[in-house]
Amino acid sequence: MRMLVVGSVALDDIKTPFGEKKNVLGGAASHFSIAAAIWLEPKIIAVVGHDFPAKHLRYLAGFGIDVSGIEKSPDKTFHWSGYYEHDMAVAHTRSTELGAFASFEPKLSEEDRLRQVLFLANIDPDLQYRVLRQMRNVQLVGMDSMNFWIESKNKALWRVVREVDILFLNDAEIRMLAGEPSLIKAAKAVQRRGPKIVIVKKGEHGVLVVSRNHVFASPAYPTEKVIDPTGAGDSFAGGVMGYLVAHAQPGSKITDELLRRAVAWGTATASFAVEGFATTGIARATKEKIAERVEVLRQLSAF
Ligand code: AMP
Repeated sequence: MRMLVVGSVALDDIKTPFGEKKNVLGGAASHFSIAAAIWLEPKIIAVVGHDFPAKHLRYLAGFGIDVSGIEKSPDKTFHWSGYYEHDMAVAHTRSTELGAFASFEPKLSEEDRLRQVLFLANIDPDLQYRVLRQMRNVQLVGMDSMNFWIESKNKALWRVVREVDILFLNDAEIRMLAGEPSLIKAAKAVQRRGPKIVIVKKGEHGVLVVSRNHVFASPAYPTEKVIDPTGAGDSFAGGVMGYLVAHAQPGSKITDELLRRAVAWGTATASFAVEGFATTGIARATKEKIAERVEVLRQLSAF
């Protein structure tokens, strides 16, 4: 099954207690695709501006990512600036400049429209919807978003949420979307309104997975080296989706057992992302290194 990814490809300014980086490669689609590329060759649909260094495209392509769907615009590249406090639990946004994404009209090729797997990485939900509508034969759709879009485009966001198979959001975002303070109630309420599976990311506290008849929790991998959490959520989603697609039986539905394994692999994948600034952490992950961490995770909560 071939995967298409739409979402931000960005230049980020990031400040954590361990340092500050300016204009580094970021964007939800970038982090997601580097992680998913451990299993398959995702194609990114996005736009970048005149200020986007060509070396970043070569870098993404080096992971086996198809970058031919990343358009060039005379505008500026999407730019996100954020910082983390001492505990690095929450990303605080200083500024979000949509740049070329503000007027981006994705035009999918015939081959793109026939892909079986779509991941709607974090970006304007109207744009996510326009891509989803163009798909002809999609069998698995995953989605991520964030507080910025839940607040500014709530209705448009729900229009997409209702149609996806797997929704990835963090705990604060799920509560916000459901308008419900109890996390488990919020996740179940959102699940009932559309997605078959809701995966709630809780940073260093792991994840909570809610499907129709199944609730599952996993701790995070206990890494001691947290340098920059940017992209951890996207890398987690990339790890989960990549593993699912690589291991699912064509035509059959995702079993709870497969989902649990995919979440463990996603969790171990994300632990690499936080160990370096921007994409440098996730770039060091390999299947073998991730497998070792999956074993550690297995022991962590077995009794
Ligand atoms: P994560 O830490 O996994 O939630 O994702 C971080 C990435 O999301 C950064 O590299 C940013 O460029 C990107 N990002 C931040 N805000 C937005 C937004 N409003 N829409 C799309 N992408 C964003």
